[in-house]
Amino acid sequence: MSEDQKPTPCLVCGASAVVLTDDPVSVEFRESSYVVDGFQYERCGACGEEYYRAGQVDAMHTRAADMARAERGLLTPDEIRRLRFDLDLTQAALDGALGASSGTVGRWERGSVVQPAVADRLMRLLWAHPGLLVEVAQQVACESRGPYRPRAK
Ligand SMILES: [Zn+2]
Repeated sequence: MSEDQKPTPCLVCGASAVVLTDDPVSVEFRESSYVVDGFQYERCGACGEEYYRAGQVDAMHTRAADMARAERGLLTPDEIRRLRFDLDLTQAALDGALGASSGTVGRWERGSVVQPAVADRLMRLLWAHPGLLVEVAQQVACESRGPYRPRAK
């Protein structure tokens, strides 16, 4: 907090008590809460209301996602990008191989969404055994021929 900064009026309580701070913030993510720091934002010293700049909430959310990923031992966005390059796949092709909806891998690589553990394991398997991609592709082609029909008795 700088010495020369004059407090500004709070839009919530009206007190002239809003000042810049970089105190850690608690962010809710996937039913857990994560304390993120290194963000400069404004807070009212009277009522506690916090004021964030544009994009700051998204950045805090992404930081919480990073912490959630690390806590669960999941691949980082960079690792997902690297394995996709190693497998020579586009984001759309990896979406297809995993049976994920369009744009899913892109969101994981941007870090805004954390991949489920099941998808994480499947990606690691494909990374370690690229030959599995052929089997996955055949499976997908097979399914696209039509729904499974039980043999008539
Ligand atoms: Zn206030």
